[in-house]
Amino acid sequence: MTIKPSRQGRASAAPISKARRQVMQWFAGGCACAVCGSANARLLDFDLMAVEVASRTWAVLGRTEYFNMDNGGNIVNVAFVEVPDGVVVIDTGPSKRYGDALRRLIERTVPGKPILRVYNTHHHPDHFLGNQSFDASLIAAPRQVIDNIALEGNGFADNMYRLLGDWMRGTNAVAPTVALQADQEDVGGRRFSLYYLSGHTSSDLVIRDDDTGVLFAGDLAFLYRAPTTPHADIDSWRESLQTLAGIDKSLLIPGHGPSDDKDESLAQTGDYIDWLHGSISDSVMRGLTMNEAMALPIPARFEGLGVVRSEYERSVVHLYPSLEDALYPVIEISQ
Ligand SMILES: [Zn+2]
Repeated sequence: MTIKPSRQGRASAAPISKARRQVMQWFAGGCACAVCGSANARLLDFDLMAVEVASRTWAVLGRTEYFNMDNGGNIVNVAFVEVPDGVVVIDTGPSKRYGDALRRLIERTVPGKPILRVYNTHHHPDHFLGNQSFDASLIAAPRQVIDNIALEGNGFADNMYRLLGDWMRGTNAVAPTVALQADQEDVGGRRFSLYYLSGHTSSDLVIRDDDTGVLFAGDLAFLYRAPTTPHADIDSWRESLQTLAGIDKSLLIPGHGPSDDKDESLAQTGDYIDWLHGSISDSVMRGLTMNEAMALPIPARFEGLGVVRSEYERSVVHLYPSLEDALYPVIEISQ
C-alpha cells in the first residue's frame, strides 16, 4: 500500500483527528529548524557506514540526536544480515534519500545477493520512511504496526518535510504488505525469532537472528540517548524490557545508540523510564504546571544521554495529560 502525504495547505476548519493529534505529539517540543540550517550549501549525502557487529551482520548507527538539518534525519540505527540465499534488512531509516543510500550500501557490502525480507520494528518515522526504496512485497511487520503506519504515516511524512526540507524530497509513506504472526520465520536459509512486544508504541517488533544470537530490539532499547515517549505505555514498556532481558542473545542492537553486549541499554532505558514516570507523577501530584515540570533538574546519572533535556521536555508534554487523568481524584458534584 502506498500512501501519498498530503502537501496541501492545512487551512481547514475540520477538527484535528486523533491520528493527527498523535502525530503532532510525536514532534511536540522539537526544534523546527528547517530555516536555520546550513545544509542547503552542501550536498545532502548521508555517507552511511556499515559496521560489522557480528558474523555477516552489519549495523548502520545513526547519531544520538534529534532530527536537524545537519544530520538530515540520520538519528536511527538500521541493520542488515547476510543469510545463505540473500539479505535481511531491519528498518529503513527516515526518508527515501536514506533508503536509497542504505540500498546502495547493502549492494556494496553484500554484492550480488538479493534482499529477501525487510522488517519494520515500529511505526515511528525514523524507522520506516525509507520503505519506498525497497520492494513493498518484501516488507513485513505486525498487523498493528501496519495499521499504525496507515493511520499516521502521512502525518509523519508531512511533519518530517517541515523539519528536514530537501532531505525528505520524494518521500512517501509506504506501509508493509506482509502481516507477521508466526513466532519464527525462515528467510533464505536462516531462522529468525520474532517477538511481539509493546510499550514504546502499541506494537514493537523485536527480531533475533537465531544463528548469531544478535537481537534487534528497535526502540524498546536506547543506549546513551534519551528514550522517546510519544506513544509510550510505561507499564508495558517495563514488561517488555524484562522479556528482552530474558532472551538468549549474543548482542543487542538498540534503536538508538551503540551496540550492546551487556544488556546495558535495557538497564539504562528501564532506569530512565522509571525515573521519568516517577518524576512526572510527582509533578502532577504537587500541582506543578507543565512548564514548571519541564524546568526540573534531571539526575546526574542521565547527563550522558544524548538530547536528554529536550526529550524530557517532550515527555512532559506526552505524559502529563494521561497522568493527570490517572492521578487526580474524581470529585462527584451533586446538584
Ligand atoms: Zn526511533
